[in-house]
Amino acid sequence: MTAQRIDGNALSQKLRAEVSSRTAALKAKGITPGLAVILVGENPASQVYVRNKVKACQDSGLHSLLEKYPEDLTEKALLARIESLNQDPSIHGILVQLPLPKHIDAQKVIEAISPNKDVDGFHIASAGALMTGMPGFWPCTPYGCMKMLESIAYDLKGKHAVVIGRSNIVGKPMAMMLLQKNATVTISHSATTNLKAMTLQADVIVAAVGKRNVLTADMVKPGAVVLDVGMNRNDEGKLCGDVDFEGVEKVASYITPVPGGVGPMTITMLLVNTLEAAERI
Ligand code: NAP
Repeated sequence: MTAQRIDGNALSQKLRAEVSSRTAALKAKGITPGLAVILVGENPASQVYVRNKVKACQDSGLHSLLEKYPEDLTEKALLARIESLNQDPSIHGILVQLPLPKHIDAQKVIEAISPNKDVDGFHIASAGALMTGMPGFWPCTPYGCMKMLESIAYDLKGKHAVVIGRSNIVGKPMAMMLLQKNATVTISHSATTNLKAMTLQADVIVAAVGKRNVLTADMVKPGAVVLDVGMNRNDEGKLCGDVDFEGVEKVASYITPVPGGVGPMTITMLLVNTLEAAERI
């Protein structure tokens, strides 16, 4: 068996076309969805991420506001700026690019964002809403993974899903989303013993670790669906995921490539969340 690839670029294009038309409909009513992106410091990877987010907004007709601040910006000044964006009616989503410089308490900054504008879905209120099945913003990367499963009409009911990784931005919310769709979910992490025994039972595996070859073909049940969130560099310096793609694609039924899989979906779901924040007004 060779797995079918779930193409994150193609799915993103489709979803972004929907975002564009819903944005146009909102604009006709006098509302332009607006995203504020805040970058503190000179982290090169962060600069690329914020540029891509702003460009994606522009391409889909959303208003975007990029604010860059020097590394020595005080926490107090950042919190004050967030408060003014919370009050700004032209801004529906606020994103503070992480990581922040060490002197700034990232959690405090996230909690300062109004939950109504928390389009990254990192606020404790958003986490609580996801946990309890209430309306709220879902973190973009696991939300994108759910859209990928939806795109192949995969019914999670009664399936066993194994999530590898338990971060607050990917692993834990991913597990909650799978649970909400009636999967039975196992979460594994760095202290998990015998990961292979778990993944071999899984119908769906989501790898979100940040280490190459965390999941190899001998760890995958034939026909399983494998979503690869990881972003790593191989020996040639090329982008790769957590999954040994060459091996696992021979065993799985569906698999997401890296690049071109989960990555593009993350920004797409940010656009979706920002649009929905504006639609809720
Ligand atoms: P993170 O905060 O570093 O979390 C990694 C998780 O992996 C932790 O929970 C850790 O366990 C667990 N882990 C480490 N070694 C393990 C092992 N051998 N077996 C099982 N679990 C293990 O990372 P993250 O922010 O969730 O991101 C994970 C990966 O996804 C990274 O490569 C990141 O770049 C990528 N990512 C991609 C996107 C995208 O848009 N494509 C978005 C976000 C993240 P402990 O909790 O015990 O330490």
